[in-house]
Parts: sequence; C-alpha cells; structure tokens
Amino acid sequence: MLEINQLHKSYPIGDSSLHVLKGIDLAIESGEMVAIMGSSGSGKSTLLNIIGILDEADSGEYILDGLPIKNLTEKKAAIYRNKFLGFIFQSFNLIKYKNALENVALPLYYQGMKRKERLEKAMFHLEKVGLAPWAHHLPKELSGGQNQRVAIARALAANPKLLLADEPTGALDTKTSYEIMAFIQQLNDEGKTILMVTHEEDIANMCKRVVRLRDGVIMEDTKIEQVRVKQHV
Ligand code: ADP
Ligand code: MG
Repeated sequence: MLEINQLHKSYPIGDSSLHVLKGIDLAIESGEMVAIMGSSGSGKSTLLNIIGILDEADSGEYILDGLPIKNLTEKKAAIYRNKFLGFIFQSFNLIKYKNALENVALPLYYQGMKRKERLEKAMFHLEKVGLAPWAHHLPKELSGGQNQRVAIARALAANPKLLLADEPTGALDTKTSYEIMAFIQQLNDEGKTILMVTHEEDIANMCKRVVRLRDGVIMEDTKIEQVRVKQHV
C-alpha cells in the first residue's frame, strides 16, 4: 500500500530549523491497522500529513499504491488525496453550516458525482455509522462521538484505499473513544487499511501493529495481539 524510505522533514524556526523526522523507513501492506505512537511533539502528525499528501518531506522516498509522491502540483495532490485517502481528525473538521448528510456528501461532490447519487451514497454511509436519523442535523446539534461518526462516514464516502486518522479519539471520553475504535476495527475487518496516530496506549493496543517514534526515528515497530472492542450502535 505504501512505502517510505529515509524520509526527512525540518521546519524553519527563525534562522535555524527543527529537524523533526530524521530518516523514517516504513512499509504498510493492504489490510493492516497500524498505530503511530510517540510523545507530544515527536512528529506523528508531521509524518501522517506527509503520508496524507498534505505536506511534503524535504528528502526521502514515498510511494503510495505504486505511485511516487514527489513534487506534485497542488491539483495533482488533491486528485491523489481524493482517489486514495480518507482523513479523520481529532477535532472532526466538519463544515459547521452543513448538515451531517451534506458533510458526508462533500468528497463525492469533489469527485464530480451528481447530487441525487451523492446524497444517496452519503445516506448509505451515515446509516453504516448509525446516524441516519441525524442526517439533517448540524454539527453543533450532535455530540462529539456523533460528529466523529459523521467524519468517519465522510472519510469513507469516496471509498479510499487508506484511512488516515490523527488522534481520532483525542477529543472524546473513554466510552465514546471505544465506540469510535469499534467502528474503525469493523472497517479494518471489512478490509480497509488504517493508519492512525495516537498517544494513548490503550487505543494503540486496539490496532494490529504499533510503530513508535522517538527523536525523529522509528524506535520500535511491533505486530501485537489486537484488543477488540464491541460496538454498541
Ligand atoms: P506530534 O503530532 O507528535 O505531537 P508534530 O508532528 O505536530 O508532533 O510536531 C513535531 C514538532 O514539529 C513539534 O515540535 C512542533 O512544534 C513542530 N512543528 C509542527 N508543525 C510545524 C510547523 N508548521 N512549523 C514549525 N514547527 C512545526
Ligand atoms: Mg499531533
């Protein structure tokens, strides 16, 4: 699914720079469910953003689904993102003035799908996360867990090959976090490849493989016995 070799990334800070990623090597196969762990500031989001083609490395190689990701124009990057990737964020990143259904339908709009078809498809995905009755509600009328489920439905709408999640449970209480993880596990059971960033050990243990970042490199990369969570919806 993806392969990364000797990836480096620095941020300019005044006259000097902060070297965040110092030679990352990582390969992820189709069907995996991988957690990237590391303390705050260790570069987890930086790595995920590069993998998500939201940012670019300074050097190194990144191949996504056989395609080298390098020096892409913004237009091409957007096409690749739409085609391959779904995103979930800690703060949901839903559009405030659009209801749940419209939020989920948005990636399909960017794919050029007709309105009737995309609303039908969006409804299908909302049903999957148990939120069909809330389709016409705005994000502010929904709980955190419900908003994250809308965000998951949106991430899945365009049927991405790889789902990227940055601290998807970071803004949720423990019970709601586990519900969201149950959904993500179910998606992985259905074959979706998942890469998520978390700093919470119990969340990472619900994945199948844990990659630990420290001092800009991967300190540990282990396959684990996945802790299963039950779905309540
Ligand atoms: P994590 O997600 O593991 O908490 P990040 O990848 O967000 O870490 O950040 C890694 C380091 O890079 C931190 O020290 C952070 O302050 C710094 N950093 C992140 N983004 C930028 C940026 N756009 N400009 C400058 N420094 C940044
Ligand atoms: Mg982060």
